[in-house]
Amino acid sequence: MATASSASPLIQLLSPPTSRRTPYRTVSEAVAESPDSELRALLEKSELVFDEISSRNLSRWVVTFSGGKDSTLTALLAADYLAQLAQPPQLDVVYSDTLLEIPAMRSAAQSFLDYLREFGAVHELPIRVHIVRPKVSDRFWVRMIGKGYPPPKPKFRWCTKRLKIAPATPFVDTGEPTAVLTGVRYGESAQRTARLVASCATGGECGQDYWAQRGPRDSRITYFAPVIDWRTCKVWDFLHFVAPLAGWPTQDVYALYGDTSLRFGCWTCTLVRRDKTVEALIERDPGSSLVKLHDFREFIWAESQKPENRLVKDGHLAGLTLEFRRDLLRRLRALERDTGRSLISAAEVRAIEQLWSNARL
Ligand code: SF4
Repeated sequence: MATASSASPLIQLLSPPTSRRTPYRTVSEAVAESPDSELRALLEKSELVFDEISSRNLSRWVVTFSGGKDSTLTALLAADYLAQLAQPPQLDVVYSDTLLEIPAMRSAAQSFLDYLREFGAVHELPIRVHIVRPKVSDRFWVRMIGKGYPPPKPKFRWCTKRLKIAPATPFVDTGEPTAVLTGVRYGESAQRTARLVASCATGGECGQDYWAQRGPRDSRITYFAPVIDWRTCKVWDFLHFVAPLAGWPTQDVYALYGDTSLRFGCWTCTLVRRDKTVEALIERDPGSSLVKLHDFREFIWAESQKPENRLVKDGHLAGLTLEFRRDLLRRLRALERDTGRSLISAAEVRAIEQLWSNARL
């Protein structure tokens, strides 16, 4: 076990850890100095889960990382725990980049992953970071504009599996005995067991609930939720006050959330009718290009409700009409020019045009 460093918290905040054998402050040591007994108790509980995982001698640990606070906490605690083992298992951190992540959140996630890579290198830990993307035929615009899928909603959530789960699956389920660590937590309500705080509709991180509730069962994966008992405020206390004392750059994720409970996911997401996350980010930066992205998301939502933009099947509204989809593509290209952001790739446009021409045959 590493010993506490005598460097000041500020110096540790600015300096990455230098060597696995060089004393560095573990999160247990950082939290030991905190007057917050609940935080200490929660960390001990998480360590018990890690001890349990460790006792099973699984050769791989996987963290399904979204960039949000819960999976950041999970990845950080797992890496910190591994750094104290003589023979740490492989840790694979898998981040599904849907290509539509809210830009500020995507860059916060990438900064954290960069640090995690560096942490692994400096401490000679077998940590690998995988950034995965959906195949072209499964991408959001190809499905919506090319095939006519309506915007996702809770009863027709066609996107999560294609954009996040399928690309990550080969890195999560390799056939080896694996511990998959998800950032799911219980809420603060009295009916805690009925309320996992993990879906994007409830201010969580898109995809975490999927792995926990519907990940492969007939595999050699065992699922764990090391932070399941943490209350939201304690996650924040840890990321804001404690983790930086151990050198972890968790300020970005804290700065993004502020004191609000934001979801982590796509800027196009219509799982929630009103996107309070994007609204909160726009309020902080009214000149941001997120305003135009948000307007476009609102446009898609409103226009796709109109019967004239929908096909009808068995008396019910079905897919989007070809005419509306053509209009969407034109508007999306105009939005790219307007914002200076690349929002759709040439490969996606080709796939869309191919789908349109196949539909005409
Ligand atoms: S954030 Fe929303 S749009 Fe993106 S994959 Fe999740 S449910 Fe789908």
